[in-house]
Amino acid sequence: MDSFHFLPPDVARGRLVRKLRTKGITNEQVLHAIESVPRHAFVDPGLSHKAYEDITLPIDHNQTISQPFIVALMTQLLDVQPDMKVLEIGTGSGYQSAVLRYFTHRLFTVERIKELSFKARDAFTRCGIKNIICKYGDGTCGWPHYAPFDRIIVTAGAPAVPTRLLQQLTPEGILVIPTGDRENQRLEVYKKRPDRIERTTYTDVVFVPLIGEQGWKERE
Ligand code: SAM
Repeated sequence: MDSFHFLPPDVARGRLVRKLRTKGITNEQVLHAIESVPRHAFVDPGLSHKAYEDITLPIDHNQTISQPFIVALMTQLLDVQPDMKVLEIGTGSGYQSAVLRYFTHRLFTVERIKELSFKARDAFTRCGIKNIICKYGDGTCGWPHYAPFDRIIVTAGAPAVPTRLLQQLTPEGILVIPTGDRENQRLEVYKKRPDRIERTTYTDVVFVPLIGEQGWKERE
């Protein structure tokens, strides 16, 4: 098992990036973003020694910070170009947002749990990351006020792709989302074309559920 307990964060990040390369991440900008973002600033201080292991870690409210490989893969699939307008649903710890911010200054992120949204904003401030527009609320309906978006990424598992999100994509826009049942999903990429929407299915993944009007119902 990897242990980065005694490594300085930059050395640990370098090791993580080498691991992501061996697992098939090829986009150099994505790897550079992973090498630049201090994941330890987005996890509980008690877990910071595990921040650069390629694993999911718990955050408050029974939610998770995604595995770095999945963050890198989703970012690679999203194919963000400079100045694109990007919407993320599921801010969580804020780590995926910080990685996306590396690619664009037009980044919007929605989190349904108020405390997590505010904690992520604190982490952005501590890391000196500016210009991420955050709100808390149900992201399954997108963010009509700022729509359309060139790219949309959903970082919680949905029963099916929310139609409201597809509607808020620009022509030629791309949406990356895990869909499936509450426990297991497949990563899917939707590309908007003039006459159709193309869907490509990638690897199996495990995300916490997307809860909301166009997602799962909250359990009692
Ligand atoms: N991107 C996150 C990160 O880097 O830490 C991963 C977050 S976690 C896997 C998924 C997050 O989606 C949780 O924080 C959860 O509260 C949030 N979520 C679930 N349903 C949501 C919804 N309808 N709108 C916004 N956020 C939602």
